[in-house]
Amino acid sequence: MGRSKDRRSKARRTDHLSDEPRGAGDPAVDERGALVDKCASEHGAQMMTPDLQELVEAATALQGKFALEDDFTAGAVAAALRTGSGRLFTGICIDLACGIGFCAEHAAAAEMLKHRERHVVALAAVGKRGLLPPCGRCREMLLQVDSRNAGCMVALRGGRVVRLADLLPEHWLDADDC
Ligand SMILES: [Zn+2]
Repeated sequence: MGRSKDRRSKARRTDHLSDEPRGAGDPAVDERGALVDKCASEHGAQMMTPDLQELVEAATALQGKFALEDDFTAGAVAAALRTGSGRLFTGICIDLACGIGFCAEHAAAAEMLKHRERHVVALAAVGKRGLLPPCGRCREMLLQVDSRNAGCMVALRGGRVVRLADLLPEHWLDADDC
């Protein structure tokens, strides 16, 4: 029964995507995304771009752990993402007990969705010791928000840049039998 529901959800997602042109509406969107893609392909998806560096700086400006109730904290990790329209959204993590906290990437994605955007072209998350890759849950979350996010350029330490799809290979959404 659960699988059937999942199948319907997937079909609905696909239908919606097919009705919506990529980078809908705003020419600047595709230009921005194309710029990131161009830089990535020219450098083998291995080098930091000015666009990603801007995200790193935005996340770094927000990063800094502060106390909440008891031993709970927020802000240990901050994230910044760029959407297909060129807008930048940020978020910070909340670390609580009982598994009810969430990652900085989640917060940034929620901020993006609040503005009715969902196509992420670039992402950077910063912790105390520098850049961090998104955790497995955030990789999955971003891909389920919009399958185009497989092409999102993710900044890693050492100036490396990889696509989200590289961090989440063999994804189940690509399989016809799920
Ligand atoms: Zn996460």
